[in-house]
Amino acid sequence: MSVTESYRLVGREAHPDPTVVTVAGRVEIGKGRLVVIAGPCAVESEEQTVRIAKAVARAGAHMLRGGAFKPRTSPYSFQGLGEKGLAILAAARQATGLPVVTEALDARSLALAAEHADVVQIGARNMQNFSLLKESGRIRKPVMLKRGFSATVDEWLMSAEYILAEGNAQVILCERGIRAAATGNHGRSTLDLGAVLAVRAMSHLPVIVDPSHGSGVRERVAPLARAAAAAGAHGIMVEVHDRPEEALCDGPQAILPDQFAALMKDLAAMAPALGFSI
Ligand code: PEP
Ligand code: MN
Repeated sequence: MSVTESYRLVGREAHPDPTVVTVAGRVEIGKGRLVVIAGPCAVESEEQTVRIAKAVARAGAHMLRGGAFKPRTSPYSFQGLGEKGLAILAAARQATGLPVVTEALDARSLALAAEHADVVQIGARNMQNFSLLKESGRIRKPVMLKRGFSATVDEWLMSAEYILAEGNAQVILCERGIRAAATGNHGRSTLDLGAVLAVRAMSHLPVIVDPSHGSGVRERVAPLARAAAAAGAHGIMVEVHDRPEEALCDGPQAILPDQFAALMKDLAAMAPALGFSI
C-alpha cells in the first residue's frame, strides 16, 4: 500500500475541503479564527484551576486546557487528580464558559474524559497507541492528536487515520515539538513549524501548535506562538500558571497570566495582516 493510501480519509485527495471541528457547539477550529487554548499543565486543585481559567478567559482564551490524567516520565512524579480532576475542569468550565480539553491515557480515562470534557487529547507518548486510537475513534467528542516526539508527518497522519477509520472525523492535529538531534539540546524539544505547512498541504484536518511542550522554556513560548500563527496554524495551545514555581508539573515552561494577556494582544495585532480573526 502506498503511504498516501494509508491515510486516505485524512488526506486531501478524497476530501479537498478543510474540516472544521466544532467544539461544544460554539468554538470552530479550522475556520479562519485562530483558536487559543490556555491553562495549566495539570489540574492541581479546584482553587488553582478556576483561578487560572478565569485569568485566561479574561485575556480572551477560547478554550481551557488542564491534565487530570498525566503521562509522566517518572512514576514518582505527580500523576494527576484523575476523575476528581475532571470534576474540577467541569467546575472551571461552569465558572468561565470555556470548553475544556483534557488528556486520556487509556481506555478507562478515555471513557471518562469523553463523558466530562469537550475535547479529548491523545498525548505525544500515546500517538501510536493503536488500541487507544481505535477507541478514540468511537467516542462522540473531538479528539486532539498530538504528534509523537519522534514521529514523522506520515506516521502522525496514519495515527489520525485510525481515528477517522473508526468513524470519528472530528480530529485536530497538534504539533508539539520533536527530538531533533541535529539541532542539539537547546530546550525540551524542537518545534517543527515546517510540519504545520506539510500537514496543511497533505490533510484537510485543522492543525494547532503547542509552543510550551515545543520548547520547554517560558521565554520562548510567546515568540513561538506568534511564529505558529504566522506559519498558518489554526490555533495554539499554551500552558499558563500564576504560580509557576509551585506548579506540580511543567512550571518552567508556564507563562504568567500577564504574559498570556500580552500574547493575546500581539496575536490580535497580527491578525489583519495574516488574514485570521481571533
Ligand atoms: C500535555 O499537553 O499536557 C502533554 C503531556 O503534552 P505532550 O503529550 O505533547 O507531551
Ligand atoms: Mn505540560
